[in-house]
Amino acid sequence: MEVQILGAHQLELKGARLTSLLIDGILLIDAGGVTSALSLPEQKKIKAVLLSHHHFDHTRDLVTLAANAAYYWQGQLAVYGLPYTLDMVRNYLLDGKMYANFLEYPGKDKPTVVLEAVEPHNRKTIGGHDVLAVPVKHSVPAVGYQVTSSDGKSLFYTSDTAAGIADCWQHVSPQLLIAEVIAPNKYGDWLKTAGHMCARLLKEELIQFRQLKGYLPRVIVIHIGNLFEQEIRQEVAQVARELDADISLGYEDMKVTF
Ligand SMILES: [Zn+2]
Ligand SMILES: [Zn+2]
Repeated sequence: MEVQILGAHQLELKGARLTSLLIDGILLIDAGGVTSALSLPEQKKIKAVLLSHHHFDHTRDLVTLAANAAYYWQGQLAVYGLPYTLDMVRNYLLDGKMYANFLEYPGKDKPTVVLEAVEPHNRKTIGGHDVLAVPVKHSVPAVGYQVTSSDGKSLFYTSDTAAGIADCWQHVSPQLLIAEVIAPNKYGDWLKTAGHMCARLLKEELIQFRQLKGYLPRVIVIHIGNLFEQEIRQEVAQVARELDADISLGYEDMKVTF
């Protein structure tokens, strides 16, 4: 399995894109920073998009990707998510008021974007991969995704989530865990209510993972709060030492093959 981190940050700046992962060149997880990260031939290979939740920093490049698919190669994108997530996309992002309605363009019978609901804990085969959506604890309905390739390699992406996702661990067995850390430990109390993580909260989740599964996967941290990157890097490194685990910060255009 090859995982390409297109966007690893909370905010977009020169050199920092919003959350997006590309799996084996064809399956996109979240669409925060896609079209500025990939050439047209690379974009053309994308067959499906898995949305973890509707927040703009995870969905906005659906518009630019759909425009490229519609205008450059007349392609079709299947976009998967919770029914609530898809309703938000339909009503506010691809509603046809700000731009073309890619849910109906170029024709209602063959639109550029097709929305497909996922049901938590119900496996689906998407783009030749086994996909499992697992609910997480964010400020809006959200799921993490386990994606397993045909050779049995799996990753789990937590999406944006607060602490307390130990329930997830019962359902997944990844070799690679992609998790979020948005801010330093000093904001831990606030993050619990905001639906996000710091390194200390991630450590507690990883301890529970190891207790339940008997191992820890490699962990890559994304959704990094740009302003706090150095502090987050130090705190994540400390957790890696304390747990004797492979935990590091992701970055734009990082490729992981396993
Ligand atoms: Zn969010
Ligand atoms: Zn986010």
